Amino acid sequence: SKATLFEGESKVRITFNDVAGLDEAKEEIQEIVEFLKFPKKFTDLGGKIPKGALLVGPPGTGKTLLAKAVAGEAGVPFFSLSGSDFVEMFVGVGAARVRDLFKQAKEKAPCIIFIDEIDAVGRSRGRGSMPGGNDERENTLNSLLVEMDGFATDSGIIIMAATNRPDILDPALLRPGRFDRQISIDKPDIIGREAIFKVHLKPLKLGKDIDPKELAAQTPGFAGAEIANVCNEAALIAARRNKQEIDMNDFQEAMDRTIGGLEKKNKLISPEE
Ligand code: ATP
Repeated sequence: SKATLFEGESKVRITFNDVAGLDEAKEEIQEIVEFLKFPKKFTDLGGKIPKGALLVGPPGTGKTLLAKAVAGEAGVPFFSLSGSDFVEMFVGVGAARVRDLFKQAKEKAPCIIFIDEIDAVGRSRGRGSMPGGNDERENTLNSLLVEMDGFATDSGIIIMAATNRPDILDPALLRPGRFDRQISIDKPDIIGREAIFKVHLKPLKLGKDIDPKELAAQTPGFAGAEIANVCNEAALIAARRNKQEIDMNDFQEAMDRTIGGLEKKNKLISPEE
């Protein structure tokens, strides 16, 4: 929420089991779990542990979930903040927030710092579209760069950031010693969607006619967030119909609604179509 400086969680319960599909991304990111759990294994050989990794992919595909799962797997605290929180910030507040975040993280290391929508603050300097609002964003970005450079690689802090626009990021962010690793998180294929459905169907009371394969086949283009939403909507629809279990009719309606919502959203983005 906007009232707190940033969110901090000392005990993360989410693990890789909660993240369905994304097998390649999980494999790549496992390395970070190892860095957090056994840093000496790497530093004893003279290696420098990376400071940051960038998760790149469309909205709702599980970037935040995956970053949290890394914290859960490694058993370390998770601090998060969104780049969009810095937009229209009062002078100096953004930079102060970044400093505060790193100060807290240093006290709690080993830990993870997660910055969602990093493009909001990390857009290439000097190419912003908001006259006036720009300087403040650049101040915030500069303080982020300063903080990233300011801690030692063996301090136990790993910064993960998410974006769907890596192309507009300031190249300074991507330099070695900053976000020098990129992990891409794509929308799930039919196999991935089936796996995600299985995760979100688990807590539900389901009728015998529910088949995750069939649900996956009917939801091309859905991201994990939309699948989670469909499962919850179906439960609410079934409850409204006073049913004892959720059947395919309820899912059908939930999927239709979600598809309707997606179409509306696409129209808003490209009104000429
Ligand atoms: P954004 O970029 O919009 O912040 P994101 O990529 O960070 O999106 P999340 O916030 O991680 O997406 O996903 C939202 C929710 O969707 C998750 O909390 C989870 O319930 C569900 N979800 C998304 N991807 C997956 C997945 N691969 N497996 C299981 N659940 C998923």
